[in-house]
Amino acid sequence: MNKVVIVTGGSRGIGAATTKLLASKGYLVCVNYRTDSNSASAVVNEINALGGRAFPYQADVSNESQVIALFDETERQFGQITHLVNNAGLLFQQSSFTGISLERFNQVLASNLTSCFLCSKEFLKRNPSYGSIVNVSSVAAKTGSPFEYIDYAASKGAMDSLTKGLALEVATMGIRVNAVRPGFIHTDMHADGGEPDRIKRLSPQIPMQRGGTPEEVANTIAWLLSDEASYITGATIDVAGGK
Ligand code: NAP
Repeated sequence: MNKVVIVTGGSRGIGAATTKLLASKGYLVCVNYRTDSNSASAVVNEINALGGRAFPYQADVSNESQVIALFDETERQFGQITHLVNNAGLLFQQSSFTGISLERFNQVLASNLTSCFLCSKEFLKRNPSYGSIVNVSSVAAKTGSPFEYIDYAASKGAMDSLTKGLALEVATMGIRVNAVRPGFIHTDMHADGGEPDRIKRLSPQIPMQRGGTPEEVANTIAWLLSDEASYITGATIDVAGGK
């Protein structure tokens, strides 16, 4: 049976590292992205040049009809979808709590949490009898991200609850659901928050005194996704240098 995976937000950062690693392990990969087709195509070209199989697919995964189209196209190209990585996420400019608008709050929850709900539901509706889901949460779920992005932290806290509940609900179905909580990972996301050097500033507070790489997170995602983690469900692994 082919291992077929959708990686949401697979075009850059942690998602791109994950798609490349999974392709090297024999997964057939759908590289989802929302806006940046160049980055998605670059990832796909790199995978296919190395003998893997991948295709890019544009979809805003907070939109139900676009999620359904994403799953339809992946099934059409590769057959039954067996694995899912809910990685897509965003944050906005660092702000105090009262500076967060309702529009922004709703947008963060839609991209980070509703996306996970919609994709997990679509995955399960298609009746896989084998496979797993890994959700990409954040240590922000524990810290709450005061003065930076409480909206983002709240979306990740809710993702942790979704992970636990869904894992227990489908535990007898041959489907495992787990999460990783990355800490301070070198990607472009920090620039989106308005502080490209954020990791340098915070490194002294990290027990290992450094940020992590997207590949270090991808390794953990790939392991949890795989049969090597066959007796693990409902778990959350921190990938955060001890934070
Ligand atoms: P990134 O470099 O900003 O990449 C985010 C990816 O998500 C992009 O591919 C983006 O696509 C996609 N995306 C965002 N919203 C989307 C939507 N509604 N529909 C489809 N795709 C969407 O981020 P990253 O740092 O790799 O983070 C990946 C995940 O790890 C996120 O969930 C993030 O919260 C989590 N995380 C990151 C860190 C960190 O330190 N970097 C720490 C903890 C957790 P486009 O570029 O096409 O818009």
